[in-house]
Amino acid sequence: MTAATDLANTVQTDIRRELGLRPIINASGTMTVFGASIMVPEAIAAMAAIAGEFVEMQHLHQLASEAVSSATGAEAGFITASCASAITLAVAATLTGDRLLAIERLPDTTGLKREVLVQLGHMVGYGASLEQTIAMTGARVVPVGTVSMARDYQLDEAITESTACAVFVVSHMTVQYAMLSLEQVCRICHAKGVPVIVDAASEYDLRAFLACGADLVVYSGHKFLGGPTSGIVAGSRALVRAAALQNRGIGRGMKVGKESIAGVIAALQAWGRRDHQAIRARERQALDLWLQVMAPSADVHGRLVPDPTGNPLDRLRVTVLPSSLWTARRLADALAAADPPVMVRDYQTDLGYFDLDPCNLHPGEAEKVAHQLAACLKL
Ligand SMILES: *Cc1c(COP(=O)(O)O)cnc(C)c1O
Repeated sequence: MTAATDLANTVQTDIRRELGLRPIINASGTMTVFGASIMVPEAIAAMAAIAGEFVEMQHLHQLASEAVSSATGAEAGFITASCASAITLAVAATLTGDRLLAIERLPDTTGLKREVLVQLGHMVGYGASLEQTIAMTGARVVPVGTVSMARDYQLDEAITESTACAVFVVSHMTVQYAMLSLEQVCRICHAKGVPVIVDAASEYDLRAFLACGADLVVYSGHKFLGGPTSGIVAGSRALVRAAALQNRGIGRGMKVGKESIAGVIAALQAWGRRDHQAIRARERQALDLWLQVMAPSADVHGRLVPDPTGNPLDRLRVTVLPSSLWTARRLADALAAADPPVMVRDYQTDLGYFDLDPCNLHPGEAEKVAHQLAACLKL
């Protein structure tokens, strides 16, 4: 088969075209609205291989726990449907512990500790609100501090007999200044026996938050890990067990099948073997190409910006100049309407810019993005 027919076959068998979907190029990053990430081949192969087989699910969960432990340094781990599910189940674990009747009764929290402390600047939404994700258990969110500042005494004095846990969010979406650090939150909470849950859905670092003292850390399986749609709970053996037991209650509708568990195990193993340097270098090539294409434009200015939460990832910030007839919003929309459509990281267009993220591109797509940019800007 020649390279040309090979290419023709891939184009023909693009399932998106078969289904009538637009074949979008994702220059927005790891966004669940666009299908999160490119699954790693190891995860796809594991899912296909286990799909037709019967397994003892308890044993598969045990193997997943071991895979999470070795990737994160946690005592134990548990796989669920999504990071949002993982937050709900982790919070539920702190309400009920391993008491089965309490688990079966949620969201009725009669007699249970049910207050969950969250810094107000961490009350994010990721397509749904963190507050609702927590409240689904029957817990009540108690905000700490103000939108723009949280102080240690505000957390310390908010802890009561009813406090079940604190939830700490690591994300570009939180307020990025004057919040309590994870070290501070762990110190204050642990002094009063309150466990700390970290939502690290979209973070590369699988070890740092546990090493910092968090009792449970939750991740998305389908973001940087390149696994199937799933959530990972990692942490203390007792709390992970209590989170897993929620599958007898509110977790039932959040359960994952054998294929997702096998896929996450494979993705975690692949993460350990991934050549992060080589990926960084490839991302850098895309950024350089885009910078070079934009350089002659009188409409836009480009500069590299590091990831706000310290993930090893740079993005290209495209600022539309006030003198331009474009606005950031209109340019983002024009790119999304192009053929093929280019989806940019566009949630701050009201500030006059959008970002181009190189972390989810197939070979050849960086060039297509460059081409669409040049076409829109008439370069
Ligand atoms: C994406 C995200 C979530 C939700 O993750 P899902 O796995 O899609 O449920 C939760 N918290 C943060 C900070 C996120 O970025």
